[in-house]
Amino acid sequence: MKELEFYFEQRKKILAFQYVDFLTEWDAQTDAAPGSVSANSVYNATLSEMQYKLTTDPDFERCVNVLYKEREQLSDELRHEIEVTNKNIQNTKRIPIKEYVAFNELTAKAYPVYVQAKQTNNFELFLPYLERIVDFCRKQTVWLATESLKGYDVLLDQYEPRYTQAKYDKFFETLREKLVPFVKKKTAKISPVPQWARQKFDKAKQKEFCEYIRDVMCFDKNFGIMKESEHPFTSGMGTTDVRITTHYYEDNLISSVFSVIHETGHAIYERQCDPSLNGTFCSGGASLGLHESQSRFYENMIGRSFAFWQTHFGKLQQIFAPQLDNVSCEEFVRFINRTEASFVRTEADELTYPLHIMLRYEIEQKLISGELEVKNLPLYWKEKFTEYFGITPPNDTLGVLQDVHWAYGNFGYFPTYALGSAIAAQLYHSMNKDFDVEQSLSSGNTKQINDWLGEHVHKYGASKYPDEILRLATGEDFEPDYYVNYLIDKYSKY
Ligand code: ZN
Repeated sequence: MKELEFYFEQRKKILAFQYVDFLTEWDAQTDAAPGSVSANSVYNATLSEMQYKLTTDPDFERCVNVLYKEREQLSDELRHEIEVTNKNIQNTKRIPIKEYVAFNELTAKAYPVYVQAKQTNNFELFLPYLERIVDFCRKQTVWLATESLKGYDVLLDQYEPRYTQAKYDKFFETLREKLVPFVKKKTAKISPVPQWARQKFDKAKQKEFCEYIRDVMCFDKNFGIMKESEHPFTSGMGTTDVRITTHYYEDNLISSVFSVIHETGHAIYERQCDPSLNGTFCSGGASLGLHESQSRFYENMIGRSFAFWQTHFGKLQQIFAPQLDNVSCEEFVRFINRTEASFVRTEADELTYPLHIMLRYEIEQKLISGELEVKNLPLYWKEKFTEYFGITPPNDTLGVLQDVHWAYGNFGYFPTYALGSAIAAQLYHSMNKDFDVEQSLSSGNTKQINDWLGEHVHKYGASKYPDEILRLATGEDFEPDYYVNYLIDKYSKY
């Protein structure tokens, strides 16, 4: 079919732009000096305009239309890809190009202002930018509205297809009803940070242990490097270039360790996609929520388990000798599972984490519907936060300014974090039916776990919808009770 030929050619060009995006973003966050980033960001607007034109090219659209009509004749993977591409073209086209480019410029300019506002606790500085960003997102919900998707649902769909407010509302309602009372009870008593954890831990030794962890998780370093950045992240292209970053804090030993376990979880997902999907739009994870379910699986179910540290705590002690000589493995595991009400989402423990997301979800709903105005955000944040956690953020840096997502215009992104944690618990339940997960860790690595996830989740890449993959992997639709039960069961022990 000549349409297929044209499609493959155009896809190659669009992917080449994505490759440039990946490399420049990686460079900006790892090696580039801060001054060079803002100077070079002018090229981003040009690149995004060229990408817009490639995606909405009338010849490409005509070709995708033909393939869409004849999609039943295509392979399962290609049919799914054509469906998603068709939707992507229609969505992109409905955003006026002037607005699209202006928005990219706006968020590029908003980022350094946001950073300054956060550093100086000055919400007023960021306010005019955030107002314009929210304004664009509200318009986006009108441009992209369909019969079935309206308002905030339009934004949610961009990050987690087929997950709407109706589904998320049900999920968060379950958490509110079953988890919040338990969290309140657990966080009522404060467990102080032990003396040993307040030492300074050498960065080079932290790096040595993190490299060891990557080996424990069987990540093949031939296909992905690890560097440092302000906020840890994973990025890559296909199965052969999957990179992660971490951040070392001398006064916090476990921060970098858990960042590396988390990001390597993301990286294993990318690495274990079926290589035949490389060079297509179906390579990589199926959605943000499913991606996060993998990183959280390794971070929480594996990395915070006693079984894991029973095998690896000795290595940690050895690298940092004699700093941890008087700490027992039990004490260490209790420490990495301590829970308390805290202000900052990224530093929150596993139990209180979903409450941080519930707060943002409710705020986003109100912002996008227009019920809440941007200028009233700081006060509203403080009120809601106090209601949920029983403590009040002392300033906006530790409150409404703590996350970068809104500066990028990423409304609808946050709920995928909580969804991912919950999906991880559901997968854990299923995996344990096939083999004893904790027992498998006595082998010294995560190979059996990687293999199970590879076979049941990773291999599909983005060639199916995330809810379809979850159903294939667990035999069920998303069920938040697994998550609630897992958390209550685990934290009842501490
Ligand atoms: Zn993540």
